[in-house]
Amino acid sequence: MQPSHHTATQQQRVQEWMRKSPLRITRARSSVAAVLLRQAEPITAELLFRRLLDIGEDVSLGSVYRILKQMEEDGLVLRDRHVSSGGIKAVYAIASVTAPSRAYVFRCDVCHRQQRIADAVLAVQLANVATLEGYALGTEIVIPARCRDCVPAAGQS
Ligand SMILES: [Zn+2]
Repeated sequence: MQPSHHTATQQQRVQEWMRKSPLRITRARSSVAAVLLRQAEPITAELLFRRLLDIGEDVSLGSVYRILKQMEEDGLVLRDRHVSSGGIKAVYAIASVTAPSRAYVFRCDVCHRQQRIADAVLAVQLANVATLEGYALGTEIVIPARCRDCVPAAGQS
């Protein structure tokens, strides 16, 4: 069993979320956050639910889904897909990065014109995939592309 690799940043984010959250901090919500923080790997809502029962938390699976959805909307939790023989399942983990700290840039490979992308959802998803795969992303991610002016006219190659 791999030791949990949650970072101080993740814990900080949970605490901040708890503070800022307009909703009442329920025991269930702090327990969900606590279980997620202990996970080395993203887990499914069902597994999270079972972990909660293990620690004696009286919560329904429906509540777990609701709490996760809200955490996801608040940007605290990242949802990813886990593909296995049993099909595709959503897995959840505490976000370890803050999306706006990164810039995504399209760069034309012909004229080198650059265009910044402001897409927080994309930024979070890319950062999440990188984390899951064990990569650290730089502060600027350049995506090779071809700008409108440099795209060859139809019929040419
Ligand atoms: Zn160009």
